Amino acid sequence: MSDAILNQAYDVQRVREDFPILARSVHARKGKPGKPLVYLDSGASAQKPRQVIQAMTRFLEEDYSNIHRGVHFLSQTATDQFEAVRTKVARFLNAPNDRCIVFTRSSTEAINLVASSYGRTFLNEGDEVILSIMEHHANIVPWQLLQAEKKIVIKVVPCDEFGVLDMDAYRDLLSDRTKLVAITHCSNVLGTVTPAKTIARLAHERGVPVLFDGSQAVVHGTVDVQDIDADFYVFTAHKLYGPTGLGVLYGKYDLLKKMPPYQGGGDMIESVSFEGTTFKAPPSRFEAGTPPITEVIGLGAAIDYVEALGRDAIAAHEHDLLQYATQQLSQIDGLRIIGTAPGKGPIISFALEGVHPHDVGTIVDQYGVAVRVGRHCAEPLAERFDVGPTVRASFGLYNTREEADALVQSLQAVKEFFGA
Ligand SMILES: *Cc1c(COP(=O)(O)O)cnc(C)c1O
Repeated sequence: MSDAILNQAYDVQRVREDFPILARSVHARKGKPGKPLVYLDSGASAQKPRQVIQAMTRFLEEDYSNIHRGVHFLSQTATDQFEAVRTKVARFLNAPNDRCIVFTRSSTEAINLVASSYGRTFLNEGDEVILSIMEHHANIVPWQLLQAEKKIVIKVVPCDEFGVLDMDAYRDLLSDRTKLVAITHCSNVLGTVTPAKTIARLAHERGVPVLFDGSQAVVHGTVDVQDIDADFYVFTAHKLYGPTGLGVLYGKYDLLKKMPPYQGGGDMIESVSFEGTTFKAPPSRFEAGTPPITEVIGLGAAIDYVEALGRDAIAAHEHDLLQYATQQLSQIDGLRIIGTAPGKGPIISFALEGVHPHDVGTIVDQYGVAVRVGRHCAEPLAERFDVGPTVRASFGLYNTREEADALVQSLQAVKEFFGA
């Protein structure tokens, strides 16, 4: 289907009505109306549709209880709904079954789980972990903690000036010392989508497992963990129009089965005694304590929402926004876009000559435009492009071309203000 046909079916104004917060204005002052909110920070956290908010409220009002341990009616009802979302997540990622799906607090915790449990058990001094230059700190620091503890070696795959991952360098870095590869599936700064399937195949030729950070990738396209042949795949609910406090770790069951617990507590044990404690099988083994029950219900509603709109239709809409916004921004003198890889996601990071990004962010905010400024939790990447902090506009399923125009107009105001 062509983009044009898909986009006709995609009624963004109708979609926007599902997001109560998009109707608000910001910076209203006494007697003066505010500016309509132009939310271009979904890469940091996406807004929530009414369907998600209502599913969580309904659950809290009607079915809430702790799960897994209770024999009473509500506990069983809540457990059924909670476990149904696990099945839904498995389908969403095309995982072979729901035993491969572990609920965590975030992408960050999911990566820490793998680094702590898999890393501590199977990695030893001198073993190498391959990361890329475009990793979020969440996929750098856990490996550095392991480096300090186990004296592993971290290798970094570079990217070219467009933000394309250097696959020749990756091939060269793979060796008999490589014990794990952990790479983003979509950069939160450059938007670059990495060739996950090839990355995995090359690693597997050497028997090396691969973790993908899918925090951005699941939001902007369809992910099939079996097709990629990912060993581990992580994402975070709040960027997928769901609640905070919840992440997902997908792991191949054979790997999860070999891994020791990450945290100890209730709900992850078979039996406890002071002579010795035995642990449940995955995923329970990795879900110590009471999980974020209501949030899991919210993620289920978020997945339903995204699938009802159609993941291809969303991707086509966002692709149109990316192209339009890139074209409009490119006409601004002195504006440099960082990251122009073909097939990238709808994330545009840029620098404006002669103006500090914090000033850009502060001034466009006065026009109601919410963008991110800083190094976006990816400092090594900022270094690579020699830019320091940048401004990042990230687009979601509810954004419009008019909002891209509003960004451009507010940037024009910034330039006038600074005479840049
Ligand atoms: C946001 C993000 C993370 C971290 O997600 P949390 O929800 O903060 O744990 C990791 N990687 C990428 C690429 C991200 O965009």
